[in-house]
Amino acid sequence: MAAARSKKPKTFAPSLAGRCLRYVVMDLLGFGRIMTDDTLAAMRAGASWHKTFQAGIARQGEVVGLELPVKNEELGISGRIDAVVRENGQTVAVEYKTVHDDKFREIAAHGPVFDHWAQLALYVNLGNYDMGRLIVDNRESEERLGWDLLPDPQWKAWIVERIQLAQTHQLQRTLPSREISVRCLYCDRWQRCFKTAEERDERVQSHPQWEPNPPLPEQFFTTGSYGSLSERAEHSN
Ligand code: SF4
Repeated sequence: MAAARSKKPKTFAPSLAGRCLRYVVMDLLGFGRIMTDDTLAAMRAGASWHKTFQAGIARQGEVVGLELPVKNEELGISGRIDAVVRENGQTVAVEYKTVHDDKFREIAAHGPVFDHWAQLALYVNLGNYDMGRLIVDNRESEERLGWDLLPDPQWKAWIVERIQLAQTHQLQRTLPSREISVRCLYCDRWQRCFKTAEERDERVQSHPQWEPNPPLPEQFFTTGSYGSLSERAEHSN
């Protein structure tokens, strides 16, 4: 009889870099998500905007590649960078996002969504790029926002530690404790953490601040000025 083939553990997607650790482990263990019609429509619209964005970037400047794979065997990471360009002798990883108008106004007022920013931070710090650029388009008004960020050893260490913690849980098939914060209100796996929406809302009200383990480094390494770190960490997808 043929020996049973061992299933390879799921790899870590860079879009998980800024997520609650429990959420990340659920993803690595293959837990489902609540996909509403709005979420699916936003995903379809996002995919079409991505194609237009990439076609546009390919016509400008020096493009190293589109959808370049990011792989780190040691850390079990696998993903793709939207675009990599050469600019003034530097290699820049570009992450492109689209959001609806309300979210765009929130981002314009408080700075990037933490999950978007952390995904790019992973590319820059683990992919050894000189710089990263986050571009956010408004799907309704077609306005655009952008930020640049630079590599930073403290953030690299934070990202690596979070990935390793998540993978330890993945290996042991255990879920870490909840990291309760306002992010739970928008989480598409919240029903795995709370029995009812009322329970979730009460818990969030008494603990709105996200307190990840290990704590976030104090400084962001964006070029440009934004709101405070704690303010930004409250914003997730
Ligand atoms: S509901 Fe909250 S604690 Fe649970 S996975 Fe989502 S963000 Fe994390």
